[in-house]
Amino acid sequence: MQGASVTAVSDATSAKVHFSRGIPPLEAIPSAEIAELTGSLLSAEASRLFQYAPIGLHAGDAELREQLGAFHAVDPDRIFVTNGSLQALDLLAGHLLKDAPRKKVLAEAPTYDRAVQIFERHGAQVSGIPLRHDGLDLDVLRERLRTEVPAFVYVIPDFQNPAGVTTSEEKRRELVALSAEFGFTILEDIPYRELRFAGTAPTLIGDLADGVEGAKVLTIGSLSKVVSPGLRVGYVIAPLGTPKDLAALAESTYLSPAPLLQAVAARAFASGLVRRNIDEVRTLLRPRHDTAVEAVRKALGDAALCVPEGGYYISVHLPVRTTEEKFLAAAGAANIALTRGSAFYPADAAPPSGTVFLRLPFQALSAEEFTEGVTRLAEVAQRAE
Ligand code: PMP
Repeated sequence: MQGASVTAVSDATSAKVHFSRGIPPLEAIPSAEIAELTGSLLSAEASRLFQYAPIGLHAGDAELREQLGAFHAVDPDRIFVTNGSLQALDLLAGHLLKDAPRKKVLAEAPTYDRAVQIFERHGAQVSGIPLRHDGLDLDVLRERLRTEVPAFVYVIPDFQNPAGVTTSEEKRRELVALSAEFGFTILEDIPYRELRFAGTAPTLIGDLADGVEGAKVLTIGSLSKVVSPGLRVGYVIAPLGTPKDLAALAESTYLSPAPLLQAVAARAFASGLVRRNIDEVRTLLRPRHDTAVEAVRKALGDAALCVPEGGYYISVHLPVRTTEEKFLAAAGAANIALTRGSAFYPADAAPPSGTVFLRLPFQALSAEEFTEGVTRLAEVAQRAE
Protein backbone atom coordinates (compact mmCIF):
# COMPACT_ATOMS: atom_id res chain seq x y z
CA MET A 1 0.00 0.00 0.00
CA GLN A 2 2.91 2.27 -0.70
CA GLY A 3 0.74 4.62 -2.76
CA ALA A 4 -1.59 5.71 0.01
CA SER A 5 0.70 8.36 1.39
CA VAL A 6 1.05 9.81 -2.12
CA THR A 7 4.40 11.40 -1.54
CA ALA A 8 4.82 11.33 -5.30
CA VAL A 9 1.94 13.70 -6.02
CA SER A 10 3.75 16.81 -7.01
CA ASP A 11 1.09 19.33 -6.04
CA ALA A 12 0.70 18.23 -2.44
CA THR A 13 1.93 21.56 -1.17
CA SER A 14 -0.14 23.74 -3.51
CA ALA A 15 -3.42 25.37 -2.57
CA LYS A 16 -6.16 23.22 -1.09
CA VAL A 17 -9.07 22.40 -3.40
CA HIS A 18 -12.41 22.12 -1.61
CA PHE A 19 -14.75 19.56 -3.18
CA SER A 20 -16.69 19.57 0.02
CA ARG A 21 -19.79 21.55 0.92
CA GLY A 22 -22.74 22.26 -1.34
CA ILE A 23 -23.40 25.78 -0.16
CA PRO A 24 -24.05 28.84 -2.34
CA PRO A 25 -21.00 30.95 -3.15
CA LEU A 26 -21.23 34.37 -1.45
CA GLU A 27 -21.64 36.12 -4.80
CA ALA A 28 -24.85 34.11 -5.43
CA ILE A 29 -26.55 35.69 -2.40
CA PRO A 30 -27.94 39.20 -3.05
CA SER A 31 -27.09 40.39 0.48
CA ALA A 32 -27.21 44.14 -0.20
CA GLU A 33 -30.68 43.93 -1.82
CA ILE A 34 -32.01 41.70 0.95
CA ALA A 35 -30.63 44.10 3.58
CA GLU A 36 -32.29 47.02 1.85
CA LEU A 37 -35.72 45.45 1.58
CA THR A 38 -35.46 44.19 5.17
CA GLY A 39 -34.78 47.76 6.27
CA SER A 40 -37.81 49.18 4.52
CA LEU A 41 -39.97 46.31 5.77
CA LEU A 42 -38.89 46.95 9.33
CA SER A 43 -39.60 50.65 9.21
CA ALA A 44 -43.11 49.93 7.93
CA GLU A 45 -44.11 46.77 9.81
CA ALA A 46 -41.83 46.14 12.79
CA SER A 47 -44.64 45.69 15.32
CA ARG A 48 -46.32 42.96 13.26
CA LEU A 49 -43.07 41.22 12.42
CA PHE A 50 -41.75 41.08 15.98
CA GLN A 51 -44.98 39.58 17.31
CA TYR A 52 -46.03 35.89 17.14
CA ALA A 53 -47.75 35.00 13.89
CA PRO A 54 -51.53 35.41 14.30
CA ILE A 55 -53.64 32.31 14.92
CA GLY A 56 -54.51 30.79 11.56
CA LEU A 57 -51.18 31.69 9.97
CA HIS A 58 -49.20 28.71 11.21
CA ALA A 59 -48.96 27.32 7.68
CA GLY A 60 -47.05 30.45 6.75
CA ASP A 61 -47.23 34.16 6.00
CA ALA A 62 -50.23 34.82 3.74
CA GLU A 63 -48.33 36.93 1.24
CA LEU A 64 -45.47 34.47 1.01
CA ARG A 65 -47.91 31.62 0.35
CA GLU A 66 -49.51 33.76 -2.37
CA GLN A 67 -46.11 34.42 -3.94
CA LEU A 68 -45.03 30.79 -3.77
CA GLY A 69 -48.38 29.70 -5.19
CA ALA A 70 -47.92 32.11 -8.11
CA PHE A 71 -44.30 31.00 -8.63
CA HIS A 72 -45.36 27.36 -8.96
CA ALA A 73 -48.76 28.07 -10.55
CA VAL A 74 -50.63 26.28 -7.74
CA ASP A 75 -53.35 27.28 -5.28
CA PRO A 76 -51.64 29.10 -2.34
CA ASP A 77 -53.72 26.96 0.02
CA ARG A 78 -51.54 24.06 -1.10
CA ILE A 79 -48.40 25.76 0.27
CA PHE A 80 -47.00 25.09 3.74
CA VAL A 81 -43.97 27.19 4.75
CA THR A 82 -41.15 25.81 6.91
CA ASN A 83 -37.87 26.98 8.45
CA GLY A 84 -35.72 25.70 5.60
CA SER A 85 -36.63 22.62 3.61
CA LEU A 86 -34.88 20.43 6.17
CA GLN A 87 -37.70 21.20 8.57
CA ALA A 88 -40.15 20.16 5.86
CA LEU A 89 -38.32 16.84 5.52
CA ASP A 90 -38.45 16.38 9.27
CA LEU A 91 -42.15 17.24 9.62
CA LEU A 92 -43.20 15.18 6.61
CA ALA A 93 -41.17 12.18 7.73
CA GLY A 94 -42.89 12.36 11.14
CA HIS A 95 -46.28 12.82 9.48
CA LEU A 96 -45.87 9.97 6.99
CA LEU A 97 -44.19 7.49 9.32
CA LYS A 98 -46.41 8.05 12.36
CA ASP A 99 -49.16 5.66 11.33
CA ALA A 100 -47.24 3.64 8.75
CA PRO A 101 -47.62 -0.09 9.40
CA ARG A 102 -43.98 -0.58 8.39
CA LYS A 103 -41.44 2.19 8.60
CA LYS A 104 -39.80 1.47 5.28
CA VAL A 105 -38.47 4.32 3.11
CA LEU A 106 -36.86 3.99 -0.31
CA ALA A 107 -34.36 6.53 -1.59
CA GLU A 108 -32.00 6.99 -4.49
CA ALA A 109 -28.54 5.48 -3.96
CA PRO A 110 -26.64 7.78 -3.67
CA THR A 111 -28.86 10.41 -2.03
CA TYR A 112 -28.73 13.46 0.26
CA ASP A 113 -27.21 12.07 3.47
CA ARG A 114 -28.91 14.52 5.83
CA ALA A 115 -32.34 13.45 4.60
CA VAL A 116 -31.52 9.82 5.37
CA GLN A 117 -30.42 10.80 8.89
CA ILE A 118 -33.70 12.66 9.41
CA PHE A 119 -35.80 9.73 8.22
CA GLU A 120 -33.86 7.33 10.43
CA ARG A 121 -34.42 9.55 13.43
CA HIS A 122 -38.14 8.99 12.86
CA GLY A 123 -37.57 5.25 12.98
CA ALA A 124 -37.41 4.68 9.22
CA GLN A 125 -35.49 1.84 7.69
CA VAL A 126 -34.06 3.51 4.60
CA SER A 127 -33.19 1.33 1.65
CA GLY A 128 -31.34 2.41 -1.50
CA ILE A 129 -32.47 1.96 -5.12
CA PRO A 130 -29.63 2.46 -7.63
CA LEU A 131 -29.60 5.84 -9.34
CA ARG A 132 -28.86 5.74 -13.09
CA HIS A 133 -27.94 8.64 -15.39
CA ASP A 134 -31.67 9.40 -15.89
CA GLY A 135 -33.12 8.65 -12.45
CA LEU A 136 -33.98 5.65 -10.29
CA ASP A 137 -33.52 2.15 -11.68
CA LEU A 138 -37.22 1.42 -12.01
CA ASP A 139 -36.74 -2.30 -12.63
CA VAL A 140 -35.12 -2.61 -9.22
CA LEU A 141 -37.83 -0.39 -7.69
CA ARG A 142 -40.64 -2.53 -9.16
CA GLU A 143 -38.98 -5.66 -7.86
CA ARG A 144 -38.76 -4.16 -4.35
CA LEU A 145 -42.37 -2.99 -4.43
CA ARG A 146 -43.46 -6.55 -5.07
CA THR A 147 -42.17 -7.61 -1.67
CA GLU A 148 -42.70 -4.44 0.38
CA VAL A 149 -44.52 -1.14 -0.10
CA PRO A 150 -42.68 1.75 1.59
CA ALA A 151 -44.27 4.63 3.51
CA PHE A 152 -42.64 6.91 0.96
CA VAL A 153 -40.05 7.13 -1.77
CA TYR A 154 -37.66 10.10 -1.50
CA VAL A 155 -36.30 11.54 -4.75
CA ILE A 156 -34.35 14.65 -5.77
CA PRO A 157 -35.36 14.75 -9.44
CA ASP A 158 -33.54 17.89 -10.59
CA PHE A 159 -29.72 18.10 -10.57
CA GLN A 160 -29.62 15.64 -7.73
CA ASN A 161 -27.50 16.10 -4.63
CA PRO A 162 -24.99 14.42 -4.71
CA ALA A 163 -24.98 12.93 -8.23
CA GLY A 164 -26.13 15.79 -10.50
CA VAL A 165 -28.67 13.49 -12.18
CA THR A 166 -32.02 14.73 -13.53
CA THR A 167 -34.87 12.23 -13.62
CA SER A 168 -36.27 11.87 -17.14
CA GLU A 169 -39.88 12.79 -17.96
CA GLU A 170 -40.59 9.15 -18.74
CA LYS A 171 -39.32 7.93 -15.37
CA ARG A 172 -41.27 10.68 -13.60
CA ARG A 173 -44.48 9.44 -15.24
CA GLU A 174 -43.66 5.88 -14.36
CA LEU A 175 -42.99 6.81 -10.71
CA VAL A 176 -46.37 8.54 -10.53
CA ALA A 177 -48.03 5.44 -12.01
CA LEU A 178 -46.27 3.22 -9.43
CA SER A 179 -47.36 5.55 -6.61
CA ALA A 180 -50.97 5.16 -7.77
CA GLU A 181 -50.67 1.40 -8.23
CA PHE A 182 -48.95 0.61 -4.90
CA GLY A 183 -50.25 3.47 -2.75
CA PHE A 184 -46.98 5.00 -1.53
CA THR A 185 -46.21 8.73 -1.32
CA ILE A 186 -43.46 10.31 -3.40
CA LEU A 187 -41.42 12.97 -1.58
CA GLU A 188 -39.95 15.15 -4.31
CA ASP A 189 -37.19 17.52 -3.10
CA ILE A 190 -36.40 20.33 -5.58
CA PRO A 191 -33.94 22.89 -4.12
CA TYR A 192 -31.85 23.10 -7.32
CA ARG A 193 -34.65 23.00 -9.89
CA GLU A 194 -34.40 26.65 -10.97
CA LEU A 195 -30.65 26.43 -11.60
CA ARG A 196 -30.80 24.95 -15.11
CA PHE A 197 -27.94 25.84 -17.47
CA ALA A 198 -28.83 23.68 -20.47
CA GLY A 199 -31.73 21.66 -21.93
CA THR A 200 -35.39 21.93 -20.97
CA ALA A 201 -36.99 21.18 -17.61
CA PRO A 202 -39.02 18.00 -17.25
CA THR A 203 -42.41 18.42 -15.56
CA LEU A 204 -42.55 18.50 -11.76
CA ILE A 205 -43.53 15.07 -10.45
CA GLY A 206 -46.18 16.81 -8.36
CA ASP A 207 -47.69 18.35 -11.49
CA LEU A 208 -47.65 15.01 -13.31
CA ALA A 209 -49.59 13.49 -10.42
CA ASP A 210 -52.43 16.05 -10.66
CA GLY A 211 -55.40 14.17 -11.97
CA VAL A 212 -53.82 10.72 -11.65
CA GLU A 213 -56.21 8.82 -9.39
CA GLY A 214 -54.44 7.48 -6.29
CA ALA A 215 -51.03 9.08 -6.93
CA LYS A 216 -49.63 10.91 -3.91
CA VAL A 217 -46.83 13.46 -4.20
CA LEU A 218 -45.48 16.02 -1.75
CA THR A 219 -43.07 18.52 -3.30
CA ILE A 220 -40.47 20.24 -1.11
CA GLY A 221 -38.96 23.55 -2.21
CA SER A 222 -36.38 25.91 -0.77
CA LEU A 223 -35.21 29.49 -1.18
CA SER A 224 -31.69 28.54 -0.07
CA LYS A 225 -30.21 28.19 -3.55
CA VAL A 226 -32.23 30.92 -5.26
CA VAL A 227 -32.03 33.75 -2.71
CA SER A 228 -30.39 32.98 0.63
CA PRO A 229 -29.98 29.94 2.89
CA GLY A 230 -29.79 32.27 5.91
CA LEU A 231 -33.47 33.13 5.48
CA ARG A 232 -34.23 29.47 6.27
CA VAL A 233 -37.32 29.48 4.09
CA GLY A 234 -38.50 26.17 2.72
CA TYR A 235 -41.97 24.96 1.79
CA VAL A 236 -44.16 22.04 0.88
CA ILE A 237 -46.56 21.89 -2.06
CA ALA A 238 -49.19 19.44 -0.88
CA PRO A 239 -52.70 18.35 -1.83
CA LEU A 240 -55.38 20.74 -0.52
CA GLY A 241 -56.06 20.01 3.13
CA THR A 242 -52.59 18.69 4.00
CA PRO A 243 -51.18 22.14 4.90
CA LYS A 244 -53.88 22.39 7.60
CA ASP A 245 -52.73 19.10 9.16
CA LEU A 246 -49.14 20.24 8.98
CA ALA A 247 -50.07 23.62 10.49
CA ALA A 248 -51.54 21.80 13.48
CA LEU A 249 -48.20 20.01 13.87
CA ALA A 250 -46.34 23.31 13.61
CA GLU A 251 -48.63 24.96 16.13
CA SER A 252 -48.00 22.22 18.65
CA THR A 253 -44.21 22.46 18.32
CA TYR A 254 -42.69 25.76 17.11
CA LEU A 255 -45.91 27.73 16.31
CA SER A 256 -44.86 29.13 12.93
CA PRO A 257 -41.84 29.93 10.79
CA ALA A 258 -40.22 33.28 11.69
CA PRO A 259 -42.58 36.14 10.63
CA LEU A 260 -39.71 38.50 9.78
CA LEU A 261 -37.88 36.06 7.52
CA GLN A 262 -41.06 35.03 5.75
CA ALA A 263 -41.95 38.68 5.15
CA VAL A 264 -38.47 39.29 3.72
CA ALA A 265 -38.94 36.31 1.41
CA ALA A 266 -42.39 37.53 0.33
CA ARG A 267 -40.93 40.96 -0.44
CA ALA A 268 -38.06 39.36 -2.37
CA PHE A 269 -40.63 37.71 -4.65
CA ALA A 270 -42.86 40.79 -4.91
CA SER A 271 -39.95 43.09 -5.85
CA GLY A 272 -38.73 40.74 -8.58
CA LEU A 273 -35.51 40.00 -6.68
CA VAL A 274 -36.04 36.23 -6.72
CA ARG A 275 -36.47 36.06 -10.51
CA ARG A 276 -33.54 38.43 -11.06
CA ASN A 277 -31.29 36.50 -8.74
CA ILE A 278 -32.15 33.18 -10.38
CA ASP A 279 -31.01 34.65 -13.70
CA GLU A 280 -27.86 36.00 -12.10
CA VAL A 281 -27.00 32.73 -10.39
CA ARG A 282 -27.50 30.88 -13.67
CA THR A 283 -25.17 33.32 -15.42
CA LEU A 284 -22.63 32.99 -12.62
CA LEU A 285 -22.68 29.18 -12.46
CA ARG A 286 -23.05 28.23 -16.13
CA PRO A 287 -19.34 28.71 -16.98
CA ARG A 288 -18.32 26.88 -13.77
CA HIS A 289 -20.59 24.01 -14.83
CA ASP A 290 -19.14 23.95 -18.36
CA THR A 291 -15.60 23.91 -17.00
CA ALA A 292 -16.45 21.11 -14.58
CA VAL A 293 -18.01 18.89 -17.26
CA GLU A 294 -15.04 19.36 -19.55
CA ALA A 295 -12.42 18.95 -16.80
CA VAL A 296 -13.99 15.73 -15.50
CA ARG A 297 -14.18 14.31 -19.03
CA LYS A 298 -10.52 15.13 -19.67
CA ALA A 299 -9.08 14.06 -16.33
CA LEU A 300 -11.38 11.21 -15.30
CA GLY A 301 -12.64 9.84 -18.62
CA ASP A 302 -16.12 8.33 -18.58
CA ALA A 303 -16.35 8.02 -14.78
CA ALA A 304 -19.09 10.67 -14.50
CA LEU A 305 -22.55 9.37 -13.52
CA CYS A 306 -24.13 11.85 -15.92
CA VAL A 307 -23.59 15.20 -17.59
CA PRO A 308 -25.58 17.48 -15.27
CA GLU A 309 -27.67 20.19 -16.90
CA GLY A 310 -27.73 22.42 -13.84
CA GLY A 311 -27.34 22.63 -10.09
CA TYR A 312 -24.11 22.40 -8.09
CA TYR A 313 -22.76 18.90 -8.63
CA ILE A 314 -21.03 16.56 -11.00
CA SER A 315 -20.12 13.15 -9.61
CA VAL A 316 -18.06 10.12 -10.53
CA HIS A 317 -17.69 6.45 -9.79
CA LEU A 318 -13.93 6.53 -9.95
CA PRO A 319 -12.15 3.21 -10.48
CA VAL A 320 -9.52 2.72 -7.76
CA ARG A 321 -7.30 -0.14 -6.61
CA THR A 322 -7.66 0.73 -2.94
CA THR A 323 -10.24 1.27 -0.20
CA GLU A 324 -12.24 4.47 0.20
CA GLU A 325 -10.43 5.06 3.47
CA LYS A 326 -7.01 4.96 1.85
CA PHE A 327 -8.17 6.89 -1.19
CA LEU A 328 -9.50 9.72 1.00
CA ALA A 329 -6.27 9.78 2.99
CA ALA A 330 -4.31 10.00 -0.26
CA ALA A 331 -6.55 12.78 -1.56
CA GLY A 332 -6.13 14.64 1.74
CA ALA A 333 -2.36 14.35 1.40
CA ALA A 334 -2.70 15.88 -2.08
CA ASN A 335 -4.59 18.79 -0.51
CA ILE A 336 -8.03 17.87 -1.81
CA ALA A 337 -10.99 18.11 0.56
CA LEU A 338 -13.75 15.60 -0.28
CA THR A 339 -16.94 14.43 1.37
CA ARG A 340 -16.87 10.69 2.03
CA GLY A 341 -18.81 9.28 -0.93
CA SER A 342 -20.13 6.18 0.84
CA ALA A 343 -21.91 8.49 3.30
CA PHE A 344 -24.34 9.35 0.47
CA TYR A 345 -25.50 5.74 0.28
CA PRO A 346 -28.25 4.33 2.47
CA ALA A 347 -26.89 1.59 4.77
CA ASP A 348 -27.84 -1.29 2.45
CA ALA A 349 -26.30 0.25 -0.70
CA ALA A 350 -22.79 1.05 -1.93
CA PRO A 351 -20.97 2.33 -5.03
CA PRO A 352 -20.08 -0.33 -7.65
CA SER A 353 -17.20 -2.49 -6.42
CA GLY A 354 -13.77 -1.29 -7.48
CA THR A 355 -14.91 2.35 -7.45
CA VAL A 356 -15.23 5.20 -5.01
CA PHE A 357 -18.11 7.64 -5.34
CA LEU A 358 -17.06 11.29 -5.41
CA ARG A 359 -19.36 14.31 -5.34
CA LEU A 360 -17.60 17.22 -6.99
CA PRO A 361 -19.42 20.50 -6.27
CA PHE A 362 -18.46 23.09 -8.89
CA GLN A 363 -20.61 26.03 -7.77
CA ALA A 364 -17.95 27.71 -5.66
CA LEU A 365 -14.76 26.93 -7.60
CA SER A 366 -12.96 28.89 -10.30
CA ALA A 367 -12.09 27.12 -13.56
CA GLU A 368 -8.45 26.85 -12.41
CA GLU A 369 -9.33 25.43 -9.00
CA PHE A 370 -11.76 22.84 -10.36
CA THR A 371 -9.44 21.73 -13.16
CA GLU A 372 -6.49 21.53 -10.79
CA GLY A 373 -8.60 19.53 -8.33
CA VAL A 374 -9.72 16.84 -10.78
CA THR A 375 -6.24 16.62 -12.30
CA ARG A 376 -4.85 15.91 -8.84
CA LEU A 377 -7.67 13.40 -8.21
CA ALA A 378 -6.71 11.51 -11.37
CA GLU A 379 -3.10 11.32 -10.14
CA VAL A 380 -4.22 10.11 -6.73
CA ALA A 381 -6.45 7.42 -8.30
CA GLN A 382 -3.53 6.29 -10.48
CA ARG A 383 -1.11 5.96 -7.59
CA ALA A 384 -3.16 4.99 -4.55
CA GLU A 385 -2.93 1.25 -3.84
N1 PMP B 1 -32.54 19.01 0.17
C1 PMP B 1 -31.44 18.89 -0.61
C2 PMP B 1 -31.43 17.89 -1.70
C3 PMP B 1 -30.34 19.72 -0.38
O1 PMP B 1 -29.26 19.58 -1.16
C4 PMP B 1 -30.39 20.68 0.66
C5 PMP B 1 -29.25 21.62 0.97
N2 PMP B 1 -28.00 21.30 0.56
C6 PMP B 1 -31.54 20.75 1.43
C7 PMP B 1 -32.60 19.91 1.16
C8 PMP B 1 -31.64 21.70 2.60
O2 PMP B 1 -32.03 22.95 2.21
P1 PMP B 1 -32.57 24.08 3.18
O3 PMP B 1 -31.48 25.10 3.28
O4 PMP B 1 -33.80 24.62 2.52
O5 PMP B 1 -32.90 23.46 4.52
